[in-house]
Amino acid sequence: MSDGDTQPGSAIATDAAETATTAAEPAIVFDRVGVSYGRGRKTTVALTDFTLRVAAGETVALLGPSGSGKSTALKALAGFVRPTSGAVRLAGRDVTGLSPAKRGIGVVVQSYALFPHMRVHDNVAFGLQAHRVPRKEIGGRVAEALAMVGMAAYAERLPRELSGGQQQRVAIARALAIRPKVLLLDEPLAALDAQLRQSMLGELQELRKALPDTAMLYVTHDQAEALALADRIAVMRDARLVDIDTAENLWQRPPSDFTAAFLGGVNLLPCTVNRVSGTAALVTVGTFTLRAEAPDIPGGWGMDAPGVLCVRPHTVRVGATSERNAVRGIVVSTVWRGASTRLRLKVDGLRDEITADVPGRLDTAVGAIAGVRFPDPAGVLIPPIIGAAVTSAPDEPGIPK
Ligand code: ADP
Ligand code: MG
Repeated sequence: MSDGDTQPGSAIATDAAETATTAAEPAIVFDRVGVSYGRGRKTTVALTDFTLRVAAGETVALLGPSGSGKSTALKALAGFVRPTSGAVRLAGRDVTGLSPAKRGIGVVVQSYALFPHMRVHDNVAFGLQAHRVPRKEIGGRVAEALAMVGMAAYAERLPRELSGGQQQRVAIARALAIRPKVLLLDEPLAALDAQLRQSMLGELQELRKALPDTAMLYVTHDQAEALALADRIAVMRDARLVDIDTAENLWQRPPSDFTAAFLGGVNLLPCTVNRVSGTAALVTVGTFTLRAEAPDIPGGWGMDAPGVLCVRPHTVRVGATSERNAVRGIVVSTVWRGASTRLRLKVDGLRDEITADVPGRLDTAVGAIAGVRFPDPAGVLIPPIIGAAVTSAPDEPGIPK
């Protein structure tokens, strides 16, 4: 780990924690947190120099491929793993050394983690007892939490008498019962089937509205969940936070090729930036000159600088070669995906294959010749990452590597 020069912020944080907890402090702060598992040659660095602030009432999604350190970040905040360096603070209070129960955080994990021998009511009450809530208050608090997730009628059931979605609702109720200021969810929908995932996503959106002061950290490898739920998305890769911004900004103007690829399976075409005027650029890709959107970047776009052109698959048109502005392409593969068909095409004059999503079902044979049309502007420019090869877009964004 190249953390030698980074002093953990805990010395400062302890002072702050002793004195005041001001309303201006973010609900959640990760201050240059590092986490390593194991010792010696078997050490895995799971989190490096991780800094993130989440305001009260804000939902931040931690999005990244499997193994990128998302759960480790969440566990460091919840107190299940001890940071090797750095500090975590809750509303200005340094909790780095505190036991999980003393942090007052609600946690929901993928596997529900309900006690199988306890009825729903007792599962939800368990956390309240651990938090020493007076006995006479517990019944009301359990009922309130179960009502929030629509499970009031199931208090006497055992977990095995519930569907997966219902079990996850109970797990959420259990986390909510302690009325946490901070709610952590680690892939809470990953164990559910696609249809249920969709309806639970809607319910989580409602829950967010019902908890306007709660800070949420939502771990997922699914870009659709992150876009649907998060105010901001923090993209993780190889134990590091690589990009963070509002969901909309990351989608519209991805700051890196990795984030672009992760948020929507795009065409990332190495290009030369010929000319920029305002936010419009002319770029050369292979033998083509195309117009592109050029977001403001620090230092600006240099003349003839290398860049990456991000072209969304659903904006690429595929038709007859005789159509205006069509370029010739050979169909390399077709996959019907229900509402659309995903084509891979080898286009004359381009080194990389192009991915196009066309509406409906397209039965084009592999090897067929098609006319490919790029939109105008063709896409958005992304700065090239010095020293990093351009990652090709995964076929399905969000599938763990
Ligand atoms: P994610 O949640 O993004 O899939 P994790 O935070 O679970 O990633 O894991 C990050 C890295 O740390 C991975 O390389 C993983 O194998 C490793 N790791 C996670 N937990 C442990 C552990 N208890 N012991 C050793 N290595 C671990
Ligand atoms: Mg995980």
